[in-house]
Amino acid sequence: MRKWECVLSPDESDPVGVERGQGQGPFVIVCEHASSTLPQSMGDMGLSEEARLSHIAWDPGALAVARLLSARFDSPLVFQKFSRLVYDCNRPPESPASMPMKSEIYAVPANEVVDGAERLARTQALYRPFHAAVSTLIDERTCHGLATSVITVHSFTPVYFGKSRAVEVGILHDADARFADGILAAAAAERRHDVRRNEPYGPADGVTHSLILHGISRGIPNVMIEVRNDLIADQAGQEVMAGYLSELIAEAIGQQDKNKKTFVNVRSH
Ligand SMILES: [Zn+2]
Repeated sequence: MRKWECVLSPDESDPVGVERGQGQGPFVIVCEHASSTLPQSMGDMGLSEEARLSHIAWDPGALAVARLLSARFDSPLVFQKFSRLVYDCNRPPESPASMPMKSEIYAVPANEVVDGAERLARTQALYRPFHAAVSTLIDERTCHGLATSVITVHSFTPVYFGKSRAVEVGILHDADARFADGILAAAAAERRHDVRRNEPYGPADGVTHSLILHGISRGIPNVMIEVRNDLIADQAGQEVMAGYLSELIAEAIGQQDKNKKTFVNVRSH
């Protein structure tokens, strides 16, 4: 019997990475799928090395892009240090997808039978501290008079169930489309990439949990950015994409002069 109160060993005790926590910029940037690392207690979860390093375990390139955005906008970044196969921090505890039995073409043997005690232990080890960190950061900023918009950064696989995806960047939102609308308008104005609304996933796929939890519940602007991972596979690609996204984001929040009006609109809702 494994002791599920010990999902993380003492040297793995903090699953939450926070960078630029004191950043004075307008965003809190969130990266739930930053890492493919498995806690020692999980072994290999019954997966091949190929599966453990594939997109089912993490979002390749997403953390690097999130870090570049954090630096560009002097804004805090919160990321999860462990794989979503143990707990997917963009899903609530009651969702079966929080500990997926199957992900795309891969069965996840260690998730086939997860009893209540184990579910609770994984939830408390990875999910609770992650979202507590994001909430605390936003609340502290509010207390200090800093307005916050939430950006979550993800990547998706270029081939899914054998089908190629043409979309390059997805701008996702739930009930609050303000921020997404601004980014999509900026993208439409210059057409450098194939940028689409709520693709390749959308709210119906359950991917807007963090947006609801931290953005919609507070009434603050929020958006989820999904980048096709072949475009951010290396540092050069990550820098180009982060630069592109920075332009769209800046345009959306009106940091660029011509869109000052959008900024006022976003903040006054
Ligand atoms: Zn993701």
